[in-house]
Amino acid sequence: SLELNSVSFQYSANSKNILNNISISIQKGSRVGIIGKTGSGKSTLTDIIMGLLEPSTGNLLVDGQVLDKNNLHSWRAHISHVPQDIFLTDSSIKENIAFGERPDQIDYDRVVLAAKRAQIQDTIEQWDKKYETNVGERGAVLSGGQKQRVGIARALYRKSNFIILDEATSSLDSNTENYVMDAIEGLSKELTLVIVYHRMSTLKYLSLIHIWR
Ligand code: ATP
Ligand code: MG
Repeated sequence: SLELNSVSFQYSANSKNILNNISISIQKGSRVGIIGKTGSGKSTLTDIIMGLLEPSTGNLLVDGQVLDKNNLHSWRAHISHVPQDIFLTDSSIKENIAFGERPDQIDYDRVVLAAKRAQIQDTIEQWDKKYETNVGERGAVLSGGQKQRVGIARALYRKSNFIILDEATSSLDSNTENYVMDAIEGLSKELTLVIVYHRMSTLKYLSLIHIWR
């Protein structure tokens, strides 16, 4: 579980607080939505959750332990951040899912399992070269929602069990909404998911955190 205790944050000493006294608890296996207007501090909050930014006041507890220098590294090993527009390298979909792994060390079965769980395997199976299909710059063209599912597959291949999906407000369309909800519903209950979203209606399955400013 993850707990934020009275977390406030300001980017510099003289600027105003971006986050004000936020206390939330995220249980393992839960699906949590973070909603707020553009510029309200959603990405800042996810950066704090990931340990990329340190709270100005307050703290984070991971399984009851204060997050500090000693456990930051192991906490971060559990987390993956999936932006809508993930970075695809100009290589095969297999290598893109097993991102960061040496090509000769890729566990093919794990790639397929990750793709299945992220609900992107049907798309991949339709391609002539399947998992060897080149994606990225000159490869197969993927929609925003499909890219995001590749990002989820990447997180699952890495064995992350805490996944943060950050939706860029500007690039949302109604299909993406459904893609993302499908992907989320199909994922294991062992995974904790935090979804940053701008619209409330689609998040009916989630517990919500509103950020007001
Ligand atoms: P969006 O929906 O547009 O992604 P957001 O809710 O994710 O917005 P943040 O990116 O967290 O918003 O930004 C919150 C506020 O903090 C904004 O006013 C922004 O200008 C400010 N901010 C963000 N990053 C920095 C930074 N590195 N230095 C100073 N201010 C920043
Ligand atoms: Mg943001």
